[in-house]
Amino acid sequence: MVNKMNDVLYIVVPCYNEEEVLPETAKRLKSKTEALIASGTVSDKSRIMFVNDGSKDSTWEIIENLHKENRLFTGVNLSRNRGHQNALLAGLDEASHHADVIISMDADLQDDINAVDGMLKEYYDGCDIVYGVRSDRKNDSFFKKFTAEIFYRLMNFLGAETVFNHADYRLMSKRAVTALAQFKEVNLFLRGLVPLIGFKSAFVSYERKERFAGKSKYPFKKMIAFALEGITSFSTKPIRFITLLGALIFIVSIFMLIYFIIRRLIGAAVIGWASVICSVWAIGGLIMLSLGVIGEYIGKIYLETKGRPKFIIEKVLDDEED
Ligand code: UDP
Ligand code: MG
Repeated sequence: MVNKMNDVLYIVVPCYNEEEVLPETAKRLKSKTEALIASGTVSDKSRIMFVNDGSKDSTWEIIENLHKENRLFTGVNLSRNRGHQNALLAGLDEASHHADVIISMDADLQDDINAVDGMLKEYYDGCDIVYGVRSDRKNDSFFKKFTAEIFYRLMNFLGAETVFNHADYRLMSKRAVTALAQFKEVNLFLRGLVPLIGFKSAFVSYERKERFAGKSKYPFKKMIAFALEGITSFSTKPIRFITLLGALIFIVSIFMLIYFIIRRLIGAAVIGWASVICSVWAIGGLIMLSLGVIGEYIGKIYLETKGRPKFIIEKVLDDEED
């Protein structure tokens, strides 16, 4: 059922050093948006919004030129690099002042642009959030596939609700984005936050392609950091595990003590310091691991209490200027 066609759509695209791929992305998004406007699916006030996340190459110049050539393009320039999640949030936030509905996607054309039609259909059918879900990962390296699998399983096991195989390709209504803005946390993991908003949601599956050009901005180090961020932002279960492990080890040690006392009483000599050394190392390692996990959470609390801004906008390209 179609009830409220012709809403203003903003497509938000975070960009970090994307000069190689941006012109092609712009071209494809432009024809897509023009087609949507022509068919009356979205309003002609719809825009494609690029968020420059402190790129070191000519990304921002490209965005400015696109805006000059065609008012379909608009841009937000962040004061420095703040990472994908923050750049995305900056774009969502800015777009929510103008748009009825917002779709976020990556700049590298890995997400199939044509899934937009399906997302908009779900939106007009009354959904506030539509998740783009990858139908398969056949274009990913074995390593990426493997680590991603572990990540999603671990997240769900630890109790953080995430949508399997969904990255940040999603549609959100204006009211969903406004609701998202009420989550004040500084440690951002949008994939975990969005399901917490609620509202009616749907899934649209698409095939994820290889990066059109340029290199991935998520090297292994960043992937690990991202996964840790996701887990520790959404679950305190690791701390619970530490407590349980500590209790378990304590109980075992009591049994060991009893066992050794009995052996002593019946006269069997306890020999070998190897076992002692081993347990000292094992316990030491566990203690350090546990302290590390607790430290992670304390670090999070520290960052949250400061309440620093998640991003600072340097400039927004708008229609009224020049
Ligand atoms: N990105 C960003 N800031 C960063 C790193 C990445 O805005 O610090 C953007 C990047 O331009 C791209 C998206 O986030 O549009 C996803 O990055 P990428 O495609 O490199 O990640 P991958 O698909 O390899 O996981
Ligand atoms: Mg990518």
